Amino acid sequence: MDVPIWLTNSRTRKKELFEPIDPDNVRIYVCGPTVYDRAHLGNARPAIVFDVLFRLMRQVYGPEHVTYVRNFTDVDDKINARAQASGRSIGEITAETTQWYLDDMAAVGVMEPTHMPRATEFIDQMIAMIADLIEKGHAYEAEGHVLFAVESYKAYGGLSGRSVDDMIAGARVEVAPYKRNPMDFVLWKPSEPELPGWESPWGRGRPGWHIECSAMSYELLGASFDIHGGGNDLMFPHHENEIAQSCCAHPEGGFAKVWLHNEMLQVEGKKMSKSLGNFFTVHDLLEGRDGQAGVPGEVIRFVMLSTHYRKPMDWTAEKASQAEATLKKWYAQITEALDNEVPYVGVVNALADDLNTAKAIAEMHQLSLAGDTPSLRASLKLLGFLDHGIPDWARGPDFDLSELADKLAAVRGAAMESKDFSEVDRMKAALLEAGVEVRMSKAGVELLPGAGFDAAKLEGL
Ligand code: AMP
Ligand code: ZN
Repeated sequence: MDVPIWLTNSRTRKKELFEPIDPDNVRIYVCGPTVYDRAHLGNARPAIVFDVLFRLMRQVYGPEHVTYVRNFTDVDDKINARAQASGRSIGEITAETTQWYLDDMAAVGVMEPTHMPRATEFIDQMIAMIADLIEKGHAYEAEGHVLFAVESYKAYGGLSGRSVDDMIAGARVEVAPYKRNPMDFVLWKPSEPELPGWESPWGRGRPGWHIECSAMSYELLGASFDIHGGGNDLMFPHHENEIAQSCCAHPEGGFAKVWLHNEMLQVEGKKMSKSLGNFFTVHDLLEGRDGQAGVPGEVIRFVMLSTHYRKPMDWTAEKASQAEATLKKWYAQITEALDNEVPYVGVVNALADDLNTAKAIAEMHQLSLAGDTPSLRASLKLLGFLDHGIPDWARGPDFDLSELADKLAAVRGAAMESKDFSEVDRMKAALLEAGVEVRMSKAGVELLPGAGFDAAKLEGL
């Protein structure tokens, strides 16, 4: 499929025509979750946004020509703290949380990336990269720590476009006596005996957070790749530090060509986050809590895609119920569609224009109004709403309708005898009101759910 894709590159702050380094292997890296707790709804935003990017690239370049890596951070102080507080082992906590994340993301229609590396599987590669950075004069050892020397990398801060002084002023920089510059960041640190640690040239220790993404992206994608994504809260320091490490260790490569950052999911104007305590988990939302009904994964996905990824978004119950109504209508329309797999060009073009999912949804409303069910169906598929067919919650109750059809046929038979058709008329009116088309012939009674089908209205029948 020959579609020009435009993406807003955070590094240049411009919308640029995407030109893959190798069209036979488009390579994407996205920073994944730290696995110590259930994912909150904000964590689902990058997972869904970059899943749409992955699907678009697969559509345009072919599914076998896209490599998507999203990591699991399974060594981290928050994990250690959780293990100590709960008395459970770190391995148990990270394994359980990783599976929760995969289940929750699958429920909101996120495909598994090509690779899902875990940091602890790449410790050797991290150690090798740190040793190389020391060798090249970009890092130094001090009191069992290894630090990256930001002054050794002139372009430091280039992604967020800030000077080192600005960054010092704006960030909570950890001051430590062994740092040459307060902005120098940890590549390796000593580990207490009761905490996870690995033998290294600098003693038993564990990696700092940033080095894992540099080491894993190099191993799985090489020194240069196409797109690096994540939430915009990661731009500084995490992504600045990834760039510094990777570009200094592999000056032959350019690291990521395009940087994409999603804006934050908010609650009353503030970032949804665990540290602010204003979060709810994807799992709670799916399952329902405090007496509230669960929200289907497709509905969560639809609400997320209704706002462009570069804009902050608020989750509201109102948006969720509108999304549910729209999806119900669309799913009911496509049941009878032909299996036409070509997504509507207007929808593909909207996605190719900097992942304009809001526009794509607007286009799909038009398809629905026009009754173009094959295009609607293929577009729903492209956007990840049909991986497991039409979900049960949106499905018209076929079984109930056939039972009702039998009942209506029986009532009609009796009415023909008694010449009293009032019960037949009552049933017909209620079915029409519920959005069901009623066809009666000598052969029997046929009930067809239409676009506005609402099973709840059938309850009195
Ligand atoms: P974390 O587990 O906190 O490292 O976050 C995992 C991913 O979720 C990162 O890409 C973050 O940028 C992203 N993220 C965290 N909070 C939010 C939020 N409120 N809205 C959107 N993305 C978020
Ligand atoms: Zn990262």
